Amino acid sequence: MPTDTPLKNELPLVDVFESPDRLLMGAGPSRVHGDVLKAMAQTTIGHLDPAMVVMMDELKDMLRYVFQTGNVMTFPVSGPGSLGMEACVNNIVEPDDKVIVAINGVFGTRMAEVTRRAGAEVIVTEDEWGMAVDPNKVEAALKANPGVKAVGFVHAETSTGALSDAAAICRLAKNHDAMSIVDTVTSLGGVPVNIDVWGADAVYSGTQKCLSCPPGLSPMTFSDRAVQATLDRETPVQSWLLDLSLVASYWQGDAKSGARTYHHTAPVNTLMGLHEALRRIVQEGLKNVWARHKAASDIIVAGMEEMGFSMLVDANIRLPELLTIILPEGIDDTAVRGKLLNDHRIEISAGLGPFAGKLWRIGVMGEGARPENAERVLRAIKALIS
Ligand SMILES: *Cc1c(COP(=O)(O)O)cnc(C)c1O
Repeated sequence: MPTDTPLKNELPLVDVFESPDRLLMGAGPSRVHGDVLKAMAQTTIGHLDPAMVVMMDELKDMLRYVFQTGNVMTFPVSGPGSLGMEACVNNIVEPDDKVIVAINGVFGTRMAEVTRRAGAEVIVTEDEWGMAVDPNKVEAALKANPGVKAVGFVHAETSTGALSDAAAICRLAKNHDAMSIVDTVTSLGGVPVNIDVWGADAVYSGTQKCLSCPPGLSPMTFSDRAVQATLDRETPVQSWLLDLSLVASYWQGDAKSGARTYHHTAPVNTLMGLHEALRRIVQEGLKNVWARHKAASDIIVAGMEEMGFSMLVDANIRLPELLTIILPEGIDDTAVRGKLLNDHRIEISAGLGPFAGKLWRIGVMGEGARPENAERVLRAIKALIS
């Protein structure tokens, strides 16, 4: 290539990007602790470096702790929560399988679409947005459709702030000889997630919600039954990248020697960040982490109700980490959220779908779930609406 070929266009150099100061109190990403950012800024090493392999083993152990599982196949998928959804669905589901997906918000709707695209015949159950998934509807669908391969649902619906009864739905699936596919993106680290107690099969999460890590990884865990289902497939997983039996060659290695081999270049520095975020959770203890989410959330609920706002979701199924707060008359949704961001450097999220313009979603996730952050949000909102 001759170096005297004129460049097609010249580009003036822009300034170094400076990330603005923000308190993230929306639906994700959540606030990230400096130690996690520091861990990510370390020297990049090879994805099969012996030090990396040690770090990955610790990371898997810590994921088993946060998921409360003994599942061997437990590791993060290289990609956002939606890729974890794709991985779970596409490894479990084969074309023409019958799959029930319970919908009670945006993410159940997304799971139904992902499952349809995997070639399944999708049967949906629907619950009103803001309500939990009704296990009776799931049971009725299982009875009406013999031979269902899997039941998919979202444990914590981030679009509405409602928590569903994962144990009950997983049990129903098992009783009808179906797999459960469970979205724990917003629940993991925020409210109790007990994979082995539930008997859940294919489960995925995300790093940028209650685990308080930058986005980009999707922790997942497969029960032995789910692993067997992937081995019993008649058709190969459509996506080579997401075929977990292949990804396992990197994360688990050869069944006998344990030797790890290249599958794809794992996001090394992002994994270092997750390692540190999980270490912080282990250090604090899961029960304390859950209690901290609830305590900070309670401060926001009390303060918002005092200012005349009301909660969409009943207290018994309300997610502490994601509050859906109905706006009283006369509050300009976009203007107030804009000022929160620009003048107070606080991000909260808008309502989705039928709730657009009608409610705010305040996230009380991970590092955000501290009393001082809850109080700062309340002070700022009070200043803007009074
Ligand atoms: C955020 C979220 C997802 C998607 O995660 P991404 O990282 O945005 O792809 C899926 N399910 C639920 C419940 C979520 O809150």
